[in-house]
Amino acid sequence: MCDVRQTGRRFEPDVVRKDFPALNQCDAEGRSIVWLDSSATTQKPQCVIDALVDFYTHYNTNVHRSYYEWGQRATEVYEGVRDRLATFIGASCPEEIVFTCGATEGLNALAEIIGQRYFQPGDEVIVSELEHHANQIPWQMQQKKRGIRIKGWTLDENGCLDLKKLDTLLTKKTKLLSVSHLSNVLGLVPPIKEIVDRAHVNGTLVVVDAAQALAHVPINVKDLDCDFLVGSSHKAYGPGGAGFFYGKRALLEELPPHHGGGTMMETVTVDSFTPAEVPFRFEAGTPPVADIIGFGAALDYIRQFDWSDLLAQEDAVVEYAEKTLSSLPFVHLVGNPPQRTAVVSFLVDGLHSHDVAGLVCDKNIALRAGYHCCQPLMRRLNCPSGVVRASFGMYNTCEDVDRLAEALEYAVNVFKK
Ligand code: PMP
Repeated sequence: MCDVRQTGRRFEPDVVRKDFPALNQCDAEGRSIVWLDSSATTQKPQCVIDALVDFYTHYNTNVHRSYYEWGQRATEVYEGVRDRLATFIGASCPEEIVFTCGATEGLNALAEIIGQRYFQPGDEVIVSELEHHANQIPWQMQQKKRGIRIKGWTLDENGCLDLKKLDTLLTKKTKLLSVSHLSNVLGLVPPIKEIVDRAHVNGTLVVVDAAQALAHVPINVKDLDCDFLVGSSHKAYGPGGAGFFYGKRALLEELPPHHGGGTMMETVTVDSFTPAEVPFRFEAGTPPVADIIGFGAALDYIRQFDWSDLLAQEDAVVEYAEKTLSSLPFVHLVGNPPQRTAVVSFLVDGLHSHDVAGLVCDKNIALRAGYHCCQPLMRRLNCPSGVVRASFGMYNTCEDVDRLAEALEYAVNVFKK
């Protein structure tokens, strides 16, 4: 297991990369992989893999209900992750963290529990055009179920969210606004604090989708004052199958459970139940114990570095990618945010986005093409064939960008032949 304490380890991408065994494999031609698909999922450091192996090898059991030593240990480690995650995002207490299987489950859970408690027919929910389908469809489901109305917050010509436009959308009926903290396509970080402040003046609740932001933007929910926030472990160097939602404690205490089963109840009779306290009220059934423990190891791994140093170096690689790609005459960057964080999307003259992603595989480059679960955004950007996306993690270097540029030259030349 990783040490929980911050060790103040210097952040050096070349050295850090060695901690990620998958990145140290080579193909038949001796080339290492250039992983530019971290927005889909990040690679895992050895300590995360070790935490999973350690759990299954030494104390595999359920949490919260065993007297034997393994069960006590699993519960302690599992609940320790809740504490560390609360600290990591600046929550007031661990009870404000609800574990889920990922951001998608978190957003669906929030839509349902908030919907049950607060939505009335005719209420309005604002969702931006930037959003991943996971932050659109759960609200659309509430629209069908509870007769609310979804209002789309359109993007400006640079692909940014304009606060003045938001002011025109907020009305007395606006119950909630849900917005991404980092776009998985444009690399845009919207001004979340300003958005929250404006929404709150109007009495509107704010959900923040931090699925992408968790590993790339320092998050402090207290400073942001957002009401709810979701994240996924696998996008922050942890295992798949684990995630969380945060909610202000006073709000969570007002909300009903959305799933029935073990753990979420206090007392049960054949025809009734009383819900458990928060956060357990929202954690019905057996949780993904190993994955959450692995998530804790990922948080420890990140926390050992100077966070601002790590993010500054990551931003420098992304900036280098922006410069390098925009200097290629056949590449066109998509969107024009003031700063791109972790993601650079682009189009290549004469090539379908899927062809680009396929051709660069010849050079052992992994990147993603298509709609990226953002069809409304693709429509706004007028990109019917989707876009190519290079997305970055702490292990990427400027050499990776150079290899991408060479691979794109190769892809364009294959097409010319
Ligand atoms: N929101 C955003 C912005 C995302 O990029 C993703 C994943 N691509 C999700 C939500 C959903 O995350 P998950 O698939 O881990 O549930």
